[in-house]
Amino acid sequence: MKLNERGLLVVISGPSGVGKGTVRKALFDLDKHNLEYSVSMTTRAPRVGEVDGIDYFFVSKEQFEQNIKDGKLLEYAEFVGNYYGTPMDYVESRLSKGKEVVLEIEVQGAMQVREQMPDAVFIFIAPPSKPALRARITKRATEAEAIINKRMEKAEREFGMAHKYDYIVVNDTVENAADRILAIIRAEHAKTERTIHKYMKILEVE
Ligand code: 5GP
Repeated sequence: MKLNERGLLVVISGPSGVGKGTVRKALFDLDKHNLEYSVSMTTRAPRVGEVDGIDYFFVSKEQFEQNIKDGKLLEYAEFVGNYYGTPMDYVESRLSKGKEVVLEIEVQGAMQVREQMPDAVFIFIAPPSKPALRARITKRATEAEAIINKRMEKAEREFGMAHKYDYIVVNDTVENAADRILAIIRAEHAKTERTIHKYMKILEVE
């Protein structure tokens, strides 16, 4: 019999512009893991180099709203004028096969997952400082000034949500942050409450 039959859901979240996406990509580049990324659905237009089905499933507002109506999203949020959401079927089917699934989502969505899947591991990516975050958001000049300001305001409000998470990982360097996340995932697997039940069965302890 295998330990941990149902897979682990890992939610990587945190303030806007903190570098969640970069950290998530670095995490997937590390060796020795079998993590699977859940590709989100969005109504945002693709950025240069983004590929449909790999970075996001890019859909129209109508298609997205139909998915909401049909109950096909595990969570969703409106973020700076666009919808973002996690397709339920993929997550469920992978978890039920014992896979480790990673979501990289903003904070409102993470709190919805917390309600629905309290068993998941919630990791808050924090900036090393406020000026560092401001610099990062400004540097990503793919968007208009007004949108950058909106993202900064939003990020500042979101700092206060850190206490709702199981772990805080400071994004001082991308490599450090990715290493710490993998260490957290490994430790979670060994947690008594996740394994004791099946372990007792294997050893036939009453
Ligand atoms: P971006 O437009 O920069 O790709 O993403 C904007 C924000 O949406 C980021 O904070 C990203 O983590 C978040 N995001 C991406 N996919 C999802 C999703 O499926 N659900 C939620 N709630 N947020 C998402």
